[in-house]
Amino acid sequence: MLTSDMYNPSEEHLMVREMVRDFVQEHVEPQALEHDRMEKFNLDMFKQLGELGLLGLTAPEEFGGAGMDATAAVIVHEELSASDPGFALAYLAHSMLFVNNLAVNGSDEQKARFLPGVCSGLAIGCMAMSEPDVGTDVLGLSSTAVQNEEGDWVLNGRKMWITNGCIDDEGTPADIVWVYAKTGVDDNGRNSLSTFLVEKGTPGYSVGQKIMDKTGMRASNTAELLFDDCVVPAANMVGKKGSALIHMMRNLEIERLTLAAMAVGISRRSLQAMNRYADERQAFGKAIRDFGQIQRHIGESWAEFRAMRAYIYDTARKMSLGVGGHRLDSDGIKLFATTAAKNIADRAIQVMGGYGYVGEYVVERLWRDAKLLEIGGGTLESHQKNITKDLSKDPDAILR
Ligand SMILES: Cc1cc2nc3c(=O)[nH]c(=O)nc-3n(C[C@H](O)[C@H](O)[C@H](O)COP(=O)(O)OP(=O)(O)OC[C@H]3O[C@@H](n4cnc5c(N)ncnc54)[C@H](O)[C@@H]3O)c2cc1C
Repeated sequence: MLTSDMYNPSEEHLMVREMVRDFVQEHVEPQALEHDRMEKFNLDMFKQLGELGLLGLTAPEEFGGAGMDATAAVIVHEELSASDPGFALAYLAHSMLFVNNLAVNGSDEQKARFLPGVCSGLAIGCMAMSEPDVGTDVLGLSSTAVQNEEGDWVLNGRKMWITNGCIDDEGTPADIVWVYAKTGVDDNGRNSLSTFLVEKGTPGYSVGQKIMDKTGMRASNTAELLFDDCVVPAANMVGKKGSALIHMMRNLEIERLTLAAMAVGISRRSLQAMNRYADERQAFGKAIRDFGQIQRHIGESWAEFRAMRAYIYDTARKMSLGVGGHRLDSDGIKLFATTAAKNIADRAIQVMGGYGYVGEYVVERLWRDAKLLEIGGGTLESHQKNITKDLSKDPDAILR
């Protein structure tokens, strides 16, 4: 029985957690191994999340969302990732990188046009920032958008590694993409970036390839997207010309928070698996739990799991969606939790010996999935860089 605490601060949060936990047990868990093996995104199951009101979790109710907060987003990502992090990543790309981004940064007209579809699951969204030659160094991206005589924008470029960029093996593109492109140079001589909403069916927008043979997160589709003289209506520019950096920075915080929440789910499941196995497995006439080296694996994993969980929920509690200013902790939680999750999954494999190394026992999949969290949504090195920079600007953060 779950109780109200910092992880479930209200009755509503508790209900969301229980609803997702039930859904995971009934629908997500039975298909997780197969979809990982087949590198298949479960689109039908994804759409069911729309019926549960989860696809527009943080979007306003007036546009079809559930109007919930960052803590609710952490809860859903934790619960899904305790079973199927690949599926959870597809959920994150849709509900956080697209839906939340639009809910926070779009105009009312754009929200009215696009949010009901993506909140219900009728349309699938994604966010395209990374390119073949540019990831961390985002200001160096090379996709361009140039305004034509009609006032529309002509988009050219390639985007890489886009989760939900295609929604099936036939290469059907996402229904709507949130795209960052260069629209000029600012007063300091830096690239000026703008945000565009590109709809499926727009001539010049296509899927280059579904990226296969990923280490982990194989239940989510990752694609290369091509924009070839793709004419985007002026009404599909989000905000003003040059305002993409604000959109990016705001959304990266919730992205890092929810990626860290995925690490909580992975850690929880890995810990459960190794804890149970340590009782069941006998060696040298006793349960392996009695061996000091096994105790170290379990003890350290417990402490790291509890520490990450508290830090993440505390950060979520302080985070108001759409208002920036949480970079220090959104980088801090992701830096700590993602490597800890990978290590906890690794220890689970070690405790479980040969069984831990095969798919049926789940933890090898969690270990593979955990590695992505150290790269996507900002690499470990970028978090180290940001934290050091922010602490230089605000050393008193250490005292608060
Ligand atoms: C499965 C998957 C899903 C993804 N989904 C999406 C998505 O939906 N949308 C999207 O836009 N992108 C997505 N990405 C891309 C992801 O965000 C990038 O891979 C990530 O930002 C890193 O960029 P990069 O791969 O180009 O590496 P690079 O930025 O080229 O980095 C290479 C190495 O250099 C290091 N490095 C770079 N700059 C510095 C520096 N200043 N100081 C120290 N070290 C540095 C990095 O930390 C890293 O170790 C996804 C990636 C994967 C693998």
